Amino acid sequence: MRAGKTAAYYTLGCKLNFAETSTIARQLEGEGFARVDFEDAADVYVINTCSVTEQADKKCRNIVRRARKLNPDAYVVVVGCYAQLKPKAIASIPGVDIVLGANDKFKVQEYLKNLDRSEGVLVKNEHIKETRTFHPSWSAGDRTRSFLKVQDGCDYFCSFCTIPLARGRSRSGSIDSVLEQVEEISAQGVKEIVLTGVNIGDFKTEEGHEFRDLVQALDEQAGAARFRISSIEPDLLNEEIIKKVSESKVFMPHFHIPLQSGSDVLLERMRRRYRAELYRERIQKIRELIPHACIGVDVIVGFPGETEEEFQKTLDLLHELEISYLHVFTYSERPNTTALRMDGAVPVATRQKRNKVLRMLSLKKQRAHYEAHVGTQQNVLFETEEIDGMLQGFTENYIRVQVPFDAELVNSIQEVHLERLNSDGIIEAALLLAQDRN
Ligand code: SF4
Repeated sequence: MRAGKTAAYYTLGCKLNFAETSTIARQLEGEGFARVDFEDAADVYVINTCSVTEQADKKCRNIVRRARKLNPDAYVVVVGCYAQLKPKAIASIPGVDIVLGANDKFKVQEYLKNLDRSEGVLVKNEHIKETRTFHPSWSAGDRTRSFLKVQDGCDYFCSFCTIPLARGRSRSGSIDSVLEQVEEISAQGVKEIVLTGVNIGDFKTEEGHEFRDLVQALDEQAGAARFRISSIEPDLLNEEIIKKVSESKVFMPHFHIPLQSGSDVLLERMRRRYRAELYRERIQKIRELIPHACIGVDVIVGFPGETEEEFQKTLDLLHELEISYLHVFTYSERPNTTALRMDGAVPVATRQKRNKVLRMLSLKKQRAHYEAHVGTQQNVLFETEEIDGMLQGFTENYIRVQVPFDAELVNSIQEVHLERLNSDGIIEAALLLAQDRN
């Protein structure tokens, strides 16, 4: 295929997928494929899939159909987790040209070049289990925030999760390569970098460096960017890391720690590597060292065996802990997981009811986190988009604030005074002039 053409991208799933799609797009741009919107007629469509998404197959089919409609002659390339797990199902979707699993998704251009359509669909998905290769990736959407993948894969095999099957064993880049990418991202004017991975706390390099060493190295590197740590497993978020974040000027006081259940019986069935008590200790340690931190929590409701009594344990623990918001997931049966064979299925209506209960609790917790900071001064990174005449941004401890739109403030860090919580759940803030600052 000759260069000088266009490519469009569609991403399903998590931040990691977004980072990887961005990287594939940059690679193709380097080969002369200008990036266009997915709704435009493009010469190549790349669809990055997710195996966790509900109805992955149906979604994938619809997107392929849309791409074909936009340009019937286009090349359609399907990559990512679902392509790794179900290559045959994807290859059978009419209109697909290339299917690339986890190992091959960064070689789109190479496969396009050698594609012979008369030979049918080209499928490359090697056995992911043996993979030790790490492909650095980072996303570049707007200029404000970038997701940087520092780790991939997972060795934990929780009983509800197919990610280890789709992404393989845990592996990481070197600290030096992360530092290089941070420089590259900062040079684009990006002000905040979110360190992302499948099991980021399991970051380990060939040189023997661990996640705490990465935090230390980033903290020492004087740069323009500030950092957030995306979701980190409680057993891997040790006191040392919490302490480093508490002392750091560039790491934001914000943690996202999956709990999944407050019941030890359920944690055991989920094959999680901690129990409720350890989780409690972690939150208490964060509060002790960083009292104003934002703490987000993932919870799964309706896992097999979650009786009313076990659910109540989750609810009690969440009530007790000083956390700032919840991400609530309703359990759904997934092929190729051990949870699928477990007894004690929870009726779907009960799962939904529990989800609602926790979402209400999340709103309450978030409100309390926001209100506790009304009247304080905070540093806010303003974003790029004007929304109803306002400009929004996040404080260091992840409170969403807004001020009247001013183009000069876009993608800048400013000191503001938090005035009041409005009815949309956003804090109205006032910019501080130099003489007002403490
Ligand atoms: S830690 Fe558990 S839930 Fe998270 S990716 Fe690994 S197996 Fe899946």
